[in-house]
This record gives sequence, C-alpha cells and structure tokens, in this order.
Amino acid sequence: MTTEALQTFWSELKPYNAKLVAVSKTKPVSDLMEAYSAGNRIFGENKVQELVSKAEEMPKDVEWHMIGHLQRNKVKYIAPLVSLIHAVDSVRLLKEIDKQAEKNNRVIDCLLQVHIAKEEAKFGFDAQELKLVVNDPEVAKMKHVRILGLMGMATFTEDNEQIRAEFKELKTLFDELKGGQLPENIVMKELSMGMSGDYTIALEEGSTMVRIGSSIFGLRSCQIDA
Ligand SMILES: *Cc1c(COP(=O)(O)O)cnc(C)c1O
Repeated sequence: MTTEALQTFWSELKPYNAKLVAVSKTKPVSDLMEAYSAGNRIFGENKVQELVSKAEEMPKDVEWHMIGHLQRNKVKYIAPLVSLIHAVDSVRLLKEIDKQAEKNNRVIDCLLQVHIAKEEAKFGFDAQELKLVVNDPEVAKMKHVRILGLMGMATFTEDNEQIRAEFKELKTLFDELKGGQLPENIVMKELSMGMSGDYTIALEEGSTMVRIGSSIFGLRSCQIDA
C-alpha cells in the first residue's frame, strides 16, 4: 500500500514541481524501510527522540525533516542530522538552532511557521510578527541557520473554502517577503503546506512541499481510537 500510495503522490506532485515529505511519525522502521525501498528519501517526524532513533536505524541518505513543535532544549539532539526544521515559531528557538548548528559545523535549513488557522491551538507567527523576524538584525547575523521559507497548517475543517483562504493568505505573505529586501540568510524558496486531507488545495494555492502521513502509511493508532 505504501509503495503504491507514494507512486501516486509523486505523479500527482510532478506538474506542481512540489516535494513530498512522507510523515512517518508513530510508524515502525519497517514501514519507513518499505517507503525507502520504493525510492522515498524525505521523511518527516514530529518528536525529537523518535526522529533520532529512527535516523540511527535507517540508511544515511535519508533527509530527516522535523515537522513538529520543537523545544529549545532538544535542538541539540537533532542538530547533527536534521535536513529541514519546518516549525520555527520564535527567534529564541532560531538562536538555539544557530548555536547548535555552529557546534556541529553546519548550516541548518529552517522554515518559519505562520499561524493561519482560525484555531487557537496552532503555533506560529502572525503576519506582523513574521515581518519583525525577517527584519530582525539579530536574525540577519545568524551564520548557521538559513531560512528557506514558510510553513503553515490550515484549520481542521470540512470547509474547503476556508482552507483555501488560509493557504492563499500564507502564499500572499510568502510572495510579499520574496519580493522584498531580505538578508542573505533568508531565501523565500519553500512553502510547506498541505497534509493528507488538504494537499490538493495546498498545491493549487502554491505549495512547494506537502507533508503526507496517513494517506501513505495508513491511519495512526491515535486517529483510529478517536
Ligand atoms: C502529522 C502531521 C502531518 C501529516 O498528517 P496526515 O494528516 O497524516 O497527512 C503533517 N504536518 C504536521 C505538522 C503533522 O504533525
């Protein structure tokens, strides 16, 4: 099932030139290996410990994406091996990533999470905060982080027009920043939006990277219990 689902996604994404992040959280390494054998190299995890232990078991050419909320005290564990951190939601976190990346002699790519959902619970900057971050001289000085774009999650709703409006809002912000003056370590290149339930809308609205879990690996046990 995983292999066929991946192939379907790759052909669906091709016309959009978008990347697929296979979200493997809670799934056993055997499931990830099946996806790897099918040719998938980008895996998304939302827990630091799970990402680190899977990275130890999986082949070294996997690109690990941290897609979940990240606590500052845990950055050090993923700093040696993470390819992209999707959900940066504070300058303090960015500072810690810069520090740990320097210790590991590398530059870590990050996305800034933007709060587009109408729900209270989701993390991220609002439009105004986002502009402060990209204009923050402290951020411009960080030599070991590179901000590659934005990430957002739409409201969990059946209302497709609401989802579309939220993705449009994120794309507009992305384009505004892209068209403006940015420091050297900020490049508006990737727009991470879209999950199993809303990725079609996200692609239509300009996503460059979709994060798909259940449509590849099946429902997670927490989703089945719910
Ligand atoms: C779990 C998760 C996904 C994937 O969700 P599915 O609905 O299973 O595709 C995408 N993005 C984030 C941030 C997640 O935590």
